[in-house]
Amino acid sequence: MKMRVISKEDFDNFVSSMINDDSLKVIGVKSKGDKFAFDPLESASELRLDYDVTLLPPKKYFFPQRETLVTYDVANGFAAKDPADLKPTVILGVHPYDIVALLHMDEIFRETKSDPYYFEKRKSSIIIGVNIQNMSKWCFAPQMGCATVEYGYDLMLTDLGNRYAVNIGSQKGEALLEKYAKNVTDALARDIQLVGQKKHEVMDISQQKINFETELIPEMLSKTYGESSFWEKHAEKCLACGSCVLVCPTCYCFDVKENPDLTLKEGERIRTWDGCLLEDFAKIASGENFRPTRPTRYRHRYFKKGKYLFDRFGFVSCVGCGRCSSNCLPDIANPVNLFNDMYSEVRSMGVEIDVPVAPDVNIKTEGDINYVPKLATIAKKIPMTAKETLFEIKLDDDSILNQVPGQFVQVSVFGVGEAPISVSSSPTQKGAFQLCVRKIGSVTTALHMLNVGDKIGIRGPFGHGFDTEFLKGKDLLFVAAGLGIAPLRSLLNYVLDNRADYGRVIVLYGCKEPREQLFGDEMVALEKRDDVEYKHTVDWCPENELWDGNIGVITTLIPQINFDPENTYAIVVGPPIVYKFVIA
Ligand SMILES: Cc1cc2nc3c(=O)[nH]c(=O)nc-3n(C[C@H](O)[C@H](O)[C@H](O)COP(=O)(O)OP(=O)(O)OC[C@H]3O[C@@H](n4cnc5c(N)ncnc54)[C@H](O)[C@@H]3O)c2cc1C
Ligand code: SF4
Ligand code: SF4
Repeated sequence: MKMRVISKEDFDNFVSSMINDDSLKVIGVKSKGDKFAFDPLESASELRLDYDVTLLPPKKYFFPQRETLVTYDVANGFAAKDPADLKPTVILGVHPYDIVALLHMDEIFRETKSDPYYFEKRKSSIIIGVNIQNMSKWCFAPQMGCATVEYGYDLMLTDLGNRYAVNIGSQKGEALLEKYAKNVTDALARDIQLVGQKKHEVMDISQQKINFETELIPEMLSKTYGESSFWEKHAEKCLACGSCVLVCPTCYCFDVKENPDLTLKEGERIRTWDGCLLEDFAKIASGENFRPTRPTRYRHRYFKKGKYLFDRFGFVSCVGCGRCSSNCLPDIANPVNLFNDMYSEVRSMGVEIDVPVAPDVNIKTEGDINYVPKLATIAKKIPMTAKETLFEIKLDDDSILNQVPGQFVQVSVFGVGEAPISVSSSPTQKGAFQLCVRKIGSVTTALHMLNVGDKIGIRGPFGHGFDTEFLKGKDLLFVAAGLGIAPLRSLLNYVLDNRADYGRVIVLYGCKEPREQLFGDEMVALEKRDDVEYKHTVDWCPENELWDGNIGVITTLIPQINFDPENTYAIVVGPPIVYKFVIA
């Protein structure tokens, strides 16, 4: 890798020439009282390359706190937002741990589909890193292997007293130096040696100490998942303020909201940072919260960074910047304290901790995420129960949805928002597709208020769907509880339309009470078929309703059927308790 040298005076001139060029945006680290922040530079003298840590990481330039995804107007539908101001943006003074964090974000934002809004900004940026001169007292980047980097930057500076050594990391960086800097010379052997020495010294200046090898983190987390008293002890004082996640350079969750104008005819859909420590983060429309308590949310933060992302991408997504620790009012967010205590806990349990085997990361990125919904029309609206309606939808461009059974679409109602809904018709039904929707919150209620001929937006299909090829020749046990019949019906109808390809078809369907039964006529027709074994149940039957079937939860139907577990595949959709019983 090439290394150059530039005097500090010439470096200031280099920064000034970039600032004076209107075709560039130049961001750098500036002081804000006794703190530091990335901000646009107005003069080279504002730049502080001796900072310890910035308030927010540079991710805010690629994944802003608030960003428009789509604009809409009721007359013309949805459109991609106006192209961003994509002037090449130089970000000056990025510490190595923040460079590693950006590399993690790149992986995450390109996972199976890449996020165009993130990458348009990433591609137009030029990262000028700087090796750490001062370290915040909370920083443990050396222990996380993130205090120095060998790639991920365009240029990397090291302060050598009266001059900077400049490592060239990319052609873009080299061209920038060539265009705006003067008197740049090749590094001499002593410069190269000094840079090595400075990078070595930084390893010893952290005031934090982790008592074990950090490769053990994923495995130690696994061992403590069920130790609720351990997590309760650590999360006891948590205020659920979310500061720890909002300042983190590797947190990437966001919420999507609608922002209509005053006429309600036009508006935009925006995304804003969200955080798993916030109480509403895992709350869903029914009011259920998957992580209702502070300890469960606190634990999730560590599992997300230390286990789930490791399993998915092969890295622990904490770079040791220490921002979470310094921003936590009750002082409980320091990962070092938690890790050390976890190590003691696991040792006291007397269990072996193996170094986890690096996962086989094999992620294929296929195209870009399309945030712009297609315009579609409600072709039919069939009431099913007091809460559920079946909508038949036609895409306005006459394209077909091409879904795999089990996939879902994102349904947009102008000015209200977007909600994921399973496609409940089979792909063998051509032309239009069907959605069975329960009225439960803002989007689903607004959808119910629309009429035939009204316009909505559709994105998708999304999700993996069921593997119809794999299931061929197998006996199939369909178990649907309540609204679970909606996605399951898509596969069931597909199988019935290709009946010769599959073995036995057993359908168990349950709902709370008779009046909540969905697709009643279709269920009666199923019962009459001699190539389908159908059983249904209700949890209870009020006195004034007619019901001659089974009464009891859906799992009471399972002992009533005989099937060969070796050749039977169960397709189960319903609340978690149903899965537990079916598997048992
Ligand atoms: C893959 C998938 C398939 C679904 N299929 C169907 C279906 O076929 N029929 C049906 O009626 N419902 C289905 N749902 C549930 C449906 O998405 C929610 O009921 C709907 O999002 C509620 O939105 P709302 O604006 O009416 O409610 P609100 O309470 O106003 O929504 C609040 C927020 O919570 C989010 N949210 C609500 N429920 C969920 C959820 N279950 N998962 C993730 N985020 C949620 C919404 O996106 C919204 O931002 C499905 C959910 C998922 C994840
Ligand atoms: S910053 Fe501290 S108090 Fe706030 S959510 Fe995070 S752990 Fe809880
Ligand atoms: S978890 Fe804390 S220390 Fe780790 S990267 Fe995030 S903010 Fe930095």
